[in-house]
Amino acid sequence: MSEEKIQFSFEFFPAKTEAGREKLVTTRNELNKLNPKYFSVTYGAGGSTRDNTKGIVTEMKSAGFDVAPHLSFGGDDEESMIKLLTDYKDAGINRIVALRGDMPSGVGGSLQLVYANELVAFIRKHFGDHFKLAVAAYPEIHPEAKSYESDVNYLKGKFDAGADSAITQYFYNPDAFFYFMEQCNKVGINKPIYPGIMPITNYKNLARFSDACGAEIPRWIRKRLESYGDDTASIAAFGTDLVSELCETLLDNGAPGFHFYTMNQVDPTSTIVKNLGLAD
Ligand code: FAD
Repeated sequence: MSEEKIQFSFEFFPAKTEAGREKLVTTRNELNKLNPKYFSVTYGAGGSTRDNTKGIVTEMKSAGFDVAPHLSFGGDDEESMIKLLTDYKDAGINRIVALRGDMPSGVGGSLQLVYANELVAFIRKHFGDHFKLAVAAYPEIHPEAKSYESDVNYLKGKFDAGADSAITQYFYNPDAFFYFMEQCNKVGINKPIYPGIMPITNYKNLARFSDACGAEIPRWIRKRLESYGDDTASIAAFGTDLVSELCETLLDNGAPGFHFYTMNQVDPTSTIVKNLGLAD
């Protein structure tokens, strides 16, 4: 595949404080120099960051950035969702990362999660083809999935409902992605699936997060990272090499590009993109 076709995008979370939002402006300006396809901004469980995500996304759009808000029904009804999507459309936003999301902690049985295929169908019904819709995919399988097959079939359901592309949960075992792609092809998925790439900076946070979302850190990588203890420079150096090599392997085997979980930091994402020769 020629390098012109390799697209990459950068994900942010909505910073809560004024200082965090200011840092985000610097980060996005730096990362924008690499010429990403678009940026995306996550959405808190249950819609808890609705206003903050919307504020950051609309500000980025008016500053000239191509940006995709992540979205789930959360606790919202159809009317509020139509209002939010209309506001996004009116602001010139034409991408959405459409998700079921998770139950926010501390919420009892009152909240009913809406599956992502239903959200995709809802957006298509009310907004036609205005939005480019990306959905989530899980090469190591979603932690709540009934089986490998069912998870792949539900992903197919999201494409059948109108999704244009998928972004994966992060993974460090490229074989999991290659096998997953084979299974997706077998059920007739032919839209692009972009590997989600999580750079490694903080081992303890990564380990905690990975356990919660079902992403596996291979034992040898855990052992290597544990051996560095609090030596953050060594963790970052090892992690940047490891993730750059992972991306190279994925590219060599036909990955259409990447979606980087930047954690609102310029590095190591920037270094990895440069290592891959993808920066302009
Ligand atoms: P779905 O695709 O709806 O799947 C959820 C589970 O239900 C799976 O186990 C699936 O097998 C099953 N399933 C799917 N469809 C059906 C159906 N129709 N009937 C029965 N079972 C079904 N979380 C956030 O809170 N905010 C974010 O901004 C956010 N961004 C993300 C971005 C990416 C790229 C990824 C990979 C994940 C993101 N997440 C985010 C996490 C995500 O919300 C959780 O993984 C959530 O548990 C599942 O969301 P989903 O859209 O994949 O759900």
